[in-house]
Amino acid sequence: MLHPMPHLPGDDGVLVEFEGVAAGYQRGPVIHDVSFQIGAGDFVGLLGPSGAGKSTILRTILGDTNVYEGNVRVAGQPASAGAARIAYVPQLETVDWNFPVTAEEVVLMGGGARRWLPWPSREERERAHELMDRLGIGEFRKRHIRELSGGQQQRVFLARALAHEPSLLLLDEPTSGVDIRTRDEVLHLLDDLNHQGITIVLTTHELNAVAAHLPWVISMNETVIAEGSPRDVFTPEILRATYGAEMPVLEYEGITLVAERPHQLGRARHDGASHEHAAGRVEVASASDGTPNEVRGDGV
Ligand code: ADP
Ligand code: MG
Repeated sequence: MLHPMPHLPGDDGVLVEFEGVAAGYQRGPVIHDVSFQIGAGDFVGLLGPSGAGKSTILRTILGDTNVYEGNVRVAGQPASAGAARIAYVPQLETVDWNFPVTAEEVVLMGGGARRWLPWPSREERERAHELMDRLGIGEFRKRHIRELSGGQQQRVFLARALAHEPSLLLLDEPTSGVDIRTRDEVLHLLDDLNHQGITIVLTTHELNAVAAHLPWVISMNETVIAEGSPRDVFTPEILRATYGAEMPVLEYEGITLVAERPHQLGRARHDGASHEHAAGRVEVASASDGTPNEVRGDGV
């Protein structure tokens, strides 16, 4: 286990530390005064609306942005020092699907620093096959990545990330654009990897479907608004500050759910029919028989 307990601030157990960080691109910072710590072995979700700076935080951990203020340390070193083995799974939407490459070739691109030949070694190929089998995509090795489903593509990029044998796995919106079953499978898979000692940081905008299952979430919009367990972070006040919208929080059979209510729906309608819609759209993170979703039961 890579789990030195307890995770006290300043301990060696801190893997990623942001201290008053302003970071961004050529034109200036897009995140401001960001401070948080991620311990070795943690499984953390970064939450926030589109444009909040979630991807920018992942890129800053990778040492890929301009840091204008503050300190970013990874395994006690500046982010650029490469002190931790970090793997990054990009958002599927940013991938160029016309690039002529098979699933196996994508995984082998993750070969990493040990490579000294321009082609993969037998060990690298065997390891790639083993990872692909483990992730249930062994049969798609020779397929062009464009011909795979969203869930299969996500697994290809996950296999590529794992080929690095990372201690820190960063995933940008790993569950966006995949169906519910695939989403739950991806979350289970990440939970297994986390139990094997890999520290995981993912971004998501899905509150009930994803964030509610994670042990720890950081809610942000250009800066950190709150962090804690989903139960502590999912409050109307914190959600208003994060999303700029009224989002009622419901307790349903021990589960904390966030309702997404359009701003003016309740005020604009006065007939009886409006009651049906008063709570807005509620995404229920539980099985159809009313028992909590099994993902939650595993503490994902
Ligand atoms: P999120 O992932 O939460 O949607 P991003 O980190 O992608 O947010 O973006 C935060 C802000 O930074 C946005 O205003 C976005 O337009 C800007 N931004 C993102 N990538 C770049 C880039 N490569 N160059 C300049 N600005 C960028
Ligand atoms: Mg993003």
